[in-house]
Amino acid sequence: MAGAWHLRNIQRDKAIEAVFQREYQQVLAIAEKQIDTRAYDIAEEARAKFPDVNHGDELEAFLASHRDIAHAFLWTGKGHVESQPQPDRMSDPEFVDEGRKFLSMIGPWFDLESKDFITKLKKSEAMEGRHVYLTSNWITKGDKLLYQSLVLFMPRGSTAEHPALAGFVYDTDYLKDKFFPQALNEVLPNQNRNDTSHPQPVIMVRTAKDHDPLATSLCWDGGSPEVERSFDGVFPGLILGIKLRGTTIANISNHFVRTAFLILGALSLLMGAGMLLTYRNVARELALAKLKSDFVSNVSHEMRTPLSLIRLYAETLELGRLSNPEKRQEYYEIIRKESERLTALINNILDFSRIESGKKEYNFRETDVADLVRSTLESYRFEIEQNGFQFEQKIDNDLPQVSVDREAIARSLLNLVNNAVKYSATDKYLGINLYRHNGGVNLEVVDHGIGIPAKEQPKIFEKFYRVGDPLVHNTKGSGLGLSLVRHIVHAHGGEVAVESEPGQGSKFIITLPVQAAEVQQAKGMSA
Ligand code: ADP
Repeated sequence: MAGAWHLRNIQRDKAIEAVFQREYQQVLAIAEKQIDTRAYDIAEEARAKFPDVNHGDELEAFLASHRDIAHAFLWTGKGHVESQPQPDRMSDPEFVDEGRKFLSMIGPWFDLESKDFITKLKKSEAMEGRHVYLTSNWITKGDKLLYQSLVLFMPRGSTAEHPALAGFVYDTDYLKDKFFPQALNEVLPNQNRNDTSHPQPVIMVRTAKDHDPLATSLCWDGGSPEVERSFDGVFPGLILGIKLRGTTIANISNHFVRTAFLILGALSLLMGAGMLLTYRNVARELALAKLKSDFVSNVSHEMRTPLSLIRLYAETLELGRLSNPEKRQEYYEIIRKESERLTALINNILDFSRIESGKKEYNFRETDVADLVRSTLESYRFEIEQNGFQFEQKIDNDLPQVSVDREAIARSLLNLVNNAVKYSATDKYLGINLYRHNGGVNLEVVDHGIGIPAKEQPKIFEKFYRVGDPLVHNTKGSGLGLSLVRHIVHAHGGEVAVESEPGQGSKFIITLPVQAAEVQQAKGMSA
């Protein structure tokens, strides 16, 4: 398995390299064409100035105005050849010697091959409109073979009856120092020797017999070319080569593969994160759907109990069989309490639906919170104590006036008190503390009940949420109380927090700031 994977990788690396190679072959093909055209243009220009068949004596003058040409010659028939070396270089004995050798070779060569050359020239003239034929010429200098470029054409005055051939030679120095450097840099314009920010292609030309470059483009940095192409037209025996400065195709393709892997990795991560998010959203929706269905069954249950009690006691009273006035009184009281419980529940639900639809409005007024807390608890106090609760109320004297919606704060307090009573099975204690805090007031509701595990504490303020504990499950509830408390307190610019430990009890703290009523009003409206 790993082997197959590795093999696939190698194949892919090779494929990237092949793309580069193809690309470079194309660059070289274009380069060859450009260089050929340049060579033809230069040669055609010189040919136009070349003496006609009857003016072999003007060869010297011709060479004087064409310093790049090493030797020129004119062949006007079997055994008739004139040749002239570049007069500029006559002081160099080696050069003179080379010229002599060249002449001794050219005469017999043309005597033999003139027909062939003339046919070639005519063909190229007819097909490509070119009047010159370029080919290579190798000469030996010491123990070295040197490359020269030979240009052949029919001079002016050459006729079908008296065909003539003429030509000249560009020697290695000219090709090496002038022609190719210029031609190669023309192929790669805009080279910048100092710009190493990205790999630039560089090219060179060499002879087929030597691996060292004959000439290179400006930024060539040594080494061997990665892709080569033989000149097959104008400069037979020369080879063009291309590579990247400062790097290799293999490096680039490795880099490419690495980058591709990185991108793939990043994409996989993104996809993973997307899937996780989707999963979380779906899970949350599912949990909410379950909470809602629990809510419906909880609420129905909570409504049914007081309703059946009310009906039961009302029916008993209706029958008029109860002679004991105390019993009757007790029944009335039960009916009142149960209907109060029902009203509280319905108020919670109505408040909740107003909040959810954004229609909840608050009516803020400067209020003595101590008075509000006392009067809210007054009617409950007796009942709470009768249920066996130890009730403790600590209210400071010098409390500031706070701007609140009385009804909403009273409802929040009752929700907290109700919870404290509901969730205290054995140690029945209810403490209410009201004291000054940061210019505003803090209202605390303390119980010694079942408590709330730390990890559940942040969730209990969410709508419909009920802790999944059997102790909670056996207690009636809608999961709305605390979410209402939080909403109301936030609308007052305050905070609600919980401190609790399972089995030890809980403390809910409402912090109310003293705040301008207008600001709160605006907040309440937009909440
Ligand atoms: P519920 O109608 O279920 O009481 P609440 O929103 O008032 O809904 O409370 C959410 C949950 O927080 C409750 O179901 C309960 O698990 C937990 N809780 C609230 N108050 C207390 C408390 N005083 N002691 C222990 N748990 C509490």
